[in-house]
Amino acid sequence: MTASNTPVRNILALAGDGIGQEVMAATRKVMEWFQAQGRARFNVTEGLVGGASYDVHGTPLTDATVKQALAADAVLFGAIGGPKWEQLAYDLRPERGLLRLRKEMGVFANLRPAMVFDALAGASTLKTEVVKGLDIMIVRELLGGVYFNEPRGVETLPNGERRGYNTQTYSTHEILRIGRVAFELARKRSKRVCSVEKSNVMESGLVWREEITKLKAEYPDVELSHMYADNCAMQLVRNPKQFDVIVTDNLFGDLLSDLASMCTGSLGMLQSASLGAKGADGRQAALYEPIHGSAPDIAGKGIANPLAMILSLSMMLRYSFDMGADADLLERAVQNVLSAGVRTGDIAEPGQTPVGTQAMADAVIAELGKLAR
Ligand code: NAD
Repeated sequence: MTASNTPVRNILALAGDGIGQEVMAATRKVMEWFQAQGRARFNVTEGLVGGASYDVHGTPLTDATVKQALAADAVLFGAIGGPKWEQLAYDLRPERGLLRLRKEMGVFANLRPAMVFDALAGASTLKTEVVKGLDIMIVRELLGGVYFNEPRGVETLPNGERRGYNTQTYSTHEILRIGRVAFELARKRSKRVCSVEKSNVMESGLVWREEITKLKAEYPDVELSHMYADNCAMQLVRNPKQFDVIVTDNLFGDLLSDLASMCTGSLGMLQSASLGAKGADGRQAALYEPIHGSAPDIAGKGIANPLAMILSLSMMLRYSFDMGADADLLERAVQNVLSAGVRTGDIAEPGQTPVGTQAMADAVIAELGKLAR
C-alpha cells in the first residue's frame, strides 16, 4: 500500500540493446517491490535508445526522447550497441545516442563507485586482503577537457607528416562545479577527498589544484589531499583502501575509474551515476547506468548479471530521491544474496551452479522482504 504523501518519482527507463533489455526487466521487478511496500511511487515511462531506436526511428536518440529525459526526475539506462549496428556511419551508431544524451542532460559529474562485496573479494585479480572492504568513489569530470576542447583535428604539415592534436583546458567554473560534487559526496561518506591531476607538468592541472585548494575553505569538515595521476594509478593497485572520494578530470577519470573497477572483479557488478548541476528549484539531471555494455555474446540467454543495474537503482534512490535508508537496504540485500552463494555465471566460483538474470533479481527481492520484516 502506498502512502498518498509519498512523492511520485518520474523515471525514464531506456533499456537499450542486448542485455540492457534483460537487466532492465529484472530491475523493474525490484522497483515494483519498493512500490508494493509503500516505500516509493514510481511513474515509469519507457523509451528507445541506441540500436533499438535506430531500428525504429533511423537515429540512436530522437529529440522526443531527449525531451522526455529532460522532463524526468531521473533516467535509468541499460546498455547500447551490438554487431548489428557496427557498420553504420559514426553519427548513427548506438554509442552516439548515449553521448548525446549525456551532453543534452548536462551531466558533468560521473560517479563511479568501486565497492567490493565481502563474498566476492576472491574474484579480484588483486590479493583478497588488498580489496576486501573496498569502498571508494571516483568522481570524473565528464563534459570538458581533452575529449571535447577545441582546437582538435588532424593536419598535414608542410613536410608531409600528419599531426593529430587535441586541447586540454579546464576553467574555474568547470573545476568548482565538479569539486563541489566531490566535497558534498565526501560529507556523506568518510569526509576525505583526494584531488588528482598532473600539475607538475600541465598548466591545466596547476589551475585544477589551485581552484580545488581554494574550494576546500567552504568544506572545513572535509580533509583534502592532492596526488599526481600516475602516482594515483600506482596507489590504486598498491593500496586502494587509502582512498574515499577521488576527484579528477575527464581523461584521468576515464583511466582511473576503469582501473579501480577492476579491483572489484566483474563488470556485471559495477554501477554508475552521472549528475548535472542542481537548479534553484532543487532539480538535478541524473542518469543511472551499469558500466557494462550490451554483451552481445550472452544477450537473449537470460543469464546476464542484473546486479550492476540493480545497484544503479540503489544510487538513484540515494542521490536523486534522498532515500538513503532504502538504498542501504537494497545494498544489504545484494550483499546477503552474494554471501548466501547465489551467483550469475560471470561471478560464479567453481562448484557453484549459476542462476539466471530473473532468479538473481528474485533472490534480491526475497532478501529485501526478509530484511524489511
Ligand atoms: P560488454 O561490457 O558488453 O561485455 C564485455 C564482457 O563482459 C562480455 O564477455 C560480456 O558477456 C561480459 N558482461 C558484461 N556485462 C555483463 C553482465 N551484466 N553479466 C554477465 N556478463 C557480462 O563490452 P563489449 O563486449 O566490449 O561491448 C559490446 C557492445 O556494448 C559494443 O557495441 C559496445 O560499444 C557496447 N558498450 C556499451 C556501453 C554502454 O552502453 N554504456 C558500454 C560499453 C560497451
